[in-house]
Amino acid sequence: MSEKFADTNQQRAKFGHAVVIGGSIAGLTAARVLSDTFARVTIVERDRLPDAPDFRRGTPQARHSHTLPLRGERILEEKFPGLFDELCTNGATRINGGSEMAFYLAGGWHEVKQQSTLISMTCSRPLIEHAIYQRLVTQYRVEFLQEYETVGLTVDRLGRYVTGVRLRPRHASTAEEMVLLADLVIDASGRNSQAPTWLAQLGYEPPRETIVNSFPGYSTRIYQRPANFDGAWKTLSIRPTPPNGARGGLIIPIEGDRWQVTLVGMGRDYPPTSEEGYLEFARSLPVPQLYEAIKDAQPLTRPCGYRSTENRLRHYDKLPRYLEGFLVMGDAVFALNPVYAQGMTVSVMGSVALERCLEVQELNGQEITGLAQAFQQQLSKLASGLWKMAIREDSRWSATVTTEDSSLPQHRLDKLGFGNLVRRTRSRTTTGVISTNIS
Ligand SMILES: Cc1cc2nc3c(=O)[nH]c(=O)nc-3n(C[C@H](O)[C@H](O)[C@H](O)COP(=O)(O)OP(=O)(O)OC[C@H]3O[C@@H](n4cnc5c(N)ncnc54)[C@H](O)[C@@H]3O)c2cc1C
Repeated sequence: MSEKFADTNQQRAKFGHAVVIGGSIAGLTAARVLSDTFARVTIVERDRLPDAPDFRRGTPQARHSHTLPLRGERILEEKFPGLFDELCTNGATRINGGSEMAFYLAGGWHEVKQQSTLISMTCSRPLIEHAIYQRLVTQYRVEFLQEYETVGLTVDRLGRYVTGVRLRPRHASTAEEMVLLADLVIDASGRNSQAPTWLAQLGYEPPRETIVNSFPGYSTRIYQRPANFDGAWKTLSIRPTPPNGARGGLIIPIEGDRWQVTLVGMGRDYPPTSEEGYLEFARSLPVPQLYEAIKDAQPLTRPCGYRSTENRLRHYDKLPRYLEGFLVMGDAVFALNPVYAQGMTVSVMGSVALERCLEVQELNGQEITGLAQAFQQQLSKLASGLWKMAIREDSRWSATVTTEDSSLPQHRLDKLGFGNLVRRTRSRTTTGVISTNIS
């Protein structure tokens, strides 16, 4: 094992060098926060990050519609002031309240008074990610080590503190490993994170895992927005509704005057990726508006599928023993069913938890000791509500499978979540469910 990337400061310096594994939403926002308190921050990313907004292998979900609720937007805007104006300059669309989003759920069109908390701007996922990446490169002290895969962790002599990451060049012919030394390591490598295995290899108990799977599947295609579209709505959402309404779909405007059109099927009713099958599935939705909008539109891509969508929680907040200086965030901890569009919000919550915990550690003069446990518990506090919302909604599908006892009493779950938002909204309106003016 060579020390090609060894840090020159080999002492455990207070807030010296932080390494973040994964250069996507969670990792990028974490690096932004770390750059305030660490002398050096390095993001290790398996992919080469593109020079312009584009799809890449490490984030296959980016081909599918991504909407960002207001809560996530606010966190990102706080960390990167002016980001959303910049996105709009580059083609993102502001979505305004009830009037611009057609929303079909449970057999009716809804005007959702709090709609702007669900969605307030749309663009492609690569546009968001690229804008953040560019900011880190140009405005913050963040280095990128691209096309390197993290394959494990290194620890001090007593095995108490993380001291770095083990790396392998992605395209090298040799399998030689290298070590990048660090005082703090954050795993933000997504749903397929190997951190539980890395911890187990070092003698630490890996986190308990809860999986709640309602077997949703996606198929997405990009269209040119038809020039003759009458503009009755900017975004169209037909949400699957348990127990029998397994099929749904979403049209969002993205940069380049395009529509990203995602079809969703719950309970293994997967939308096809053939051209004919895709249109047929769209035609089978409970209301015709989505099909009517796309049937004569010009497709720009082939339909693309995705099925790795289960709710998966790794309980890092309840470990019996923590490897000091090793934190985990984003989908690597809370991976939610994407139907609820909360994944990016949970991912950026990691940076909020990190900021709070670093402040406390600094105030108490505790350096890195205790940070891992405090962070995982803080993250859990922030994100558990969204997890409970997702599993509550998914538990309403008969096909849902749970690998562990993760169920909460119904009266507690009823206080949470998306379904509750819609119910509240309906009860606050004078006419109950309001028909919108779409034909
Ligand atoms: C179909 C679909 C639709 C979705 N729609 C929405 C939506 O509408 N709204 C929303 O908020 N969320 C949505 N999500 C969820 C969202 O995509 C995720 O929550 C979010 O991307 C998680 O960010 P992350 O940074 O934790 O992980 P990821 O975005 O998965 O990124 C992980 C990164 O780590 C890198 N990596 C992995 N392993 C290694 C390694 N060993 N070494 C180095 N680098 C590594 C990868 O290349 C990648 O860059 C959707 C998800 C799916 C699947």
